[in-house]
Amino acid sequence: MLIDIITIFPEVCEPYLNSSILGIAQEKGKLEIRLHNLRDYTLDKHRKVDDRPFGGGPGMILTPEPVFRAVEHINQISKPKNKTKAKIILLTPQGKTLNQKLAEKLSKREHLILICGRYEGVDERVRESLVNEEISIGDYILSGGELAALVLTDSLTRLLPGVLGHKDSNVRESFSDNLLEYPQYTRPADFRGMGVPRVLLSGDHKKIEEWRRAQTIKITKKKRPDLLKNTINFKKI
Ligand code: SAM
Repeated sequence: MLIDIITIFPEVCEPYLNSSILGIAQEKGKLEIRLHNLRDYTLDKHRKVDDRPFGGGPGMILTPEPVFRAVEHINQISKPKNKTKAKIILLTPQGKTLNQKLAEKLSKREHLILICGRYEGVDERVRESLVNEEISIGDYILSGGELAALVLTDSLTRLLPGVLGHKDSNVRESFSDNLLEYPQYTRPADFRGMGVPRVLLSGDHKKIEEWRRAQTIKITKKKRPDLLKNTINFKKI
């Protein structure tokens, strides 16, 4: 998978993208991430990316020219390699809220271009004429789209085949199947007088599976009953 990120703060994104699972995914060749500084696509010597909103109002707006130019450049350099057209995503609080289902869908794409807004946002013509999808990471306002782009990239990377060590790692995580994960314990079996459920030490894999399934349902009912309404297999539970 190829992900291009357009931002005025590439240096904010870089350390996270090169660490842990994302760094390993790139080393393994499962993922390529290219960071683009929006200022490199400006036409004036001051590398200005923003301007005041028409009609007045607070703050500044990212101008359309560098954003369009950045996307055009990315499409141009990607053409020889890519079979399918890139999906162009704007990170915005107005977008569809990211969830595991959406992450699963997007993880199947060959190429994504992520546009990070800043200030009061992006000129509407970017949204109207350039962007294919708008994604939000929740109902709150961040100072920029960088954290949202990192959240999205992280959630997709975990789903790429061959990225996580164990083949079941994704299947068992919270939200796969619309259920939350069962409780997990590790050594020591007795920590300051606090034990672990005996079944987990029994070595009986069938019983452990049954216990985990029951816990998954109990925890989801308690913490996120809304998820169960969307579970196709709920009747079978
Ligand atoms: N004035 C905008 C509004 O009211 O919708 C908010 C602009 S926000 C301060 C600056 C940028 O941060 C946005 O253009 C967007 O790229 C990003 N952003 C803020 N909150 C976000 C969220 N919840 N999800 C995704 N991106 C977000």
